[in-house]
Amino acid sequence: MTLELAHRAQNLIQGPGTTLAEWQSSRSLAGVPTITHRQLVPEGQRLVVVAPHPDDEVLGCAGLLAGMKGREADVLMIAVTDGEGSHPGSRQWTASRLRRQRPSESALALERLGLDVSALNWQRLRLPDSGVEAQEAALFERLLALLRPNDRVVCTWQSDGHCDHEATGRATARAASTNNACLIEVPVWAWHWARPDDPRVPWASAHKLLLDSQVLASKRYAIAAHISQVSADGQHAAVLSPDTLERLLQPFELVFL
Ligand SMILES: [Zn+2]
Repeated sequence: MTLELAHRAQNLIQGPGTTLAEWQSSRSLAGVPTITHRQLVPEGQRLVVVAPHPDDEVLGCAGLLAGMKGREADVLMIAVTDGEGSHPGSRQWTASRLRRQRPSESALALERLGLDVSALNWQRLRLPDSGVEAQEAALFERLLALLRPNDRVVCTWQSDGHCDHEATGRATARAASTNNACLIEVPVWAWHWARPDDPRVPWASAHKLLLDSQVLASKRYAIAAHISQVSADGQHAAVLSPDTLERLLQPFELVFL
């Protein structure tokens, strides 16, 4: 993606975004069929989650991860960046502090989902936050070495409207296809910019993983572990606003297969 296109993608995430009430009245969303955890990650298959930033894994697929309790050995977490670019110019959250803070928030969040974090395989690739597209070829090579045939590979949707999310989605899609793994894309920022019946959303390939009230409460608790993202820093509002969180805490997770 050119720099100009990257900026255009970033520009999609502006203003208050589509409200939860608008999503709740979406006929397209209402018509999406459900899918079970067992169908998405059958027994004996590995779940690989490729997260551009530490928090995308719980924002996009906390329910899917919570369902891996007891199967932690079958989970590979891939952190593409350490998320050091979330607070440009902040005195409180400097890049070096975020590099230490955000991976530890991710670990706490997964613990809050009920997972035995010590049993998870976690690969940190340390690509530059906001600079993944310039490293897309390198990311593809790293993923190629990590993915196996039949893995269920979750990543951010290739048209999610954030340059790192899109570059991660593209590289993961190519690596999954090359290694005969199954790709599962999840929207994160699309909940913000897409309209309720948006033709840009691939509704025909969408499925819903339903979350019961207990899993949804765990997801809320896990997201709250990302203190640096859900709190204001004195200079700026929280990166994840209450409206953003409400959109991401619907009682299902949307996946594109
Ligand atoms: Zn992200």
